[in-house]
Amino acid sequence: MDSYEQLVKTLKELSYITSTLAILEWDEQVYMPVQGAKVRGETKAYLAGMLHQKFTSNDFAKQLKAVKALAESGKLNDKQLAIYKEIDRQYQRQKKLPLEYVQEISKVTSEAHHKWAEARQKSDYKIFLPYLKKIVELKKQEANYVGYEGSPYDALLDAYEPGLTAAQLDQIFAPIKDFLIPFIKKIKQSKNKFNSRTIISKYPIDQQAAFLKILSEKMGFDYQKGRLDTSAHPFSTSFHPEDVRITTRFDEQDVLSAITSTIHEMGHGFYEAGLPVEHFGTPLAESISLGIHESQSRVWENQIGRSLSFWKYFYPLLKKQFPKPFKLIPLRDFYRAVNNVRNSLIRVESDEVTYNLHIIIRYELERDLMEGKVKVEDLPKLWNQKIQQYLGLKVAKDSNGVLQDVHWSGGAIGYFPTYSLGNLYSAQFYRAARKALSKLDQQLESGNFKDFREWLRKNIHQHGKLYSAEELVKKVTGESLNSKYFIEYIKDKYSKIYNLK
Ligand code: ZN
Repeated sequence: MDSYEQLVKTLKELSYITSTLAILEWDEQVYMPVQGAKVRGETKAYLAGMLHQKFTSNDFAKQLKAVKALAESGKLNDKQLAIYKEIDRQYQRQKKLPLEYVQEISKVTSEAHHKWAEARQKSDYKIFLPYLKKIVELKKQEANYVGYEGSPYDALLDAYEPGLTAAQLDQIFAPIKDFLIPFIKKIKQSKNKFNSRTIISKYPIDQQAAFLKILSEKMGFDYQKGRLDTSAHPFSTSFHPEDVRITTRFDEQDVLSAITSTIHEMGHGFYEAGLPVEHFGTPLAESISLGIHESQSRVWENQIGRSLSFWKYFYPLLKKQFPKPFKLIPLRDFYRAVNNVRNSLIRVESDEVTYNLHIIIRYELERDLMEGKVKVEDLPKLWNQKIQQYLGLKVAKDSNGVLQDVHWSGGAIGYFPTYSLGNLYSAQFYRAARKALSKLDQQLESGNFKDFREWLRKNIHQHGKLYSAEELVKKVTGESLNSKYFIEYIKDKYSKIYNLK
């Protein structure tokens, strides 16, 4: 066996541990009884430690070094080189973090998570404050260990969206802010509003589940290679491209909640299922970045799943499942209910128009925290100011403001922007897909989702990490990531819905 083959064999072995961890995590959220939590935590910590140990061992370093020699003498092909470069990138980042640091942040965030939950429940920021302070300090340390050129924030962002910087984000987000703030005001003032409460009714959960089965099968979710289950917070995971898991949750009064979240998670699932099986265990069978992953869920949830064409096909089927609530609601009105702009204080309840402003607020605050321009003590005040300024809303209590999201308590600083990047990538990809598939609207209207799904697989999924996000976007759309297509999409769609000039 040559040194390249040896490295791939080791990577495969490591991926068995990663998959096992994912199974434990999935089970924890879907099936595990409450009392199982303690030993599950220990089991996961043990396996995570084992993974870390193997990845940073001398033996692994030797294998990597041998492949480096092959890379430098030009003996690797493009795919082999991509695998080596990505593993080396991950390895270098891991190696820069001292073991004491890794243990410390894991300890602090696990305590902080409980304190955050308590603080949110009591709407009392003071409970969370000392923990968040500690996390911000540790994250500054992490940035110093990892190293950066521009902002310390770059070092953290790199963990989720490799290669992207705060300076680039500023450039990408500026036009969105300029467009959205006045656009949302116009929507608020529009007289052409639809009262989405008219679709609030009673939708028995077993009937919702039956509809989701029909919907997911028609859309192409393969139940031979995946499962759909229920959990408190919908998520997706995969243990292998041929074993993909997605979850949803039901709201008895609001049928759209489970439908939209299932379509979203299915989009993630299609990506995982579309990764090349033959490269399992290597970066070539992994998603590029969180932003690209999110683009796959958003494009199905929003561009497809909230389109009129999509509902021309599915609304009759939904009406068949729930004849009573929808009897007097024509498709046009239902379409407007699906695209209702809510302007909520809560990120996860917001719509595709207001969503990015929620993210920009979080991004600006966490960037300023990392750059030392903002104090952790001042976060609630600054948060509320920005919500007022960007969305015109008043935050009455911190549980609906700065305390609403779990991310910071887990040390995930630099994560939020990937949600917005997903929205932007999805609009840009969708435009390219529409160019390539000239009959897309007719296809959706007749329940043909295969051509679009295949387009995504061929252009995005099948490459795994062969390209960087930047390279992929250029290859697929001919341009770098920019906000133009998202703005165009929102402006066009919602000007029609709200009858705006
Ligand atoms: Zn998602």
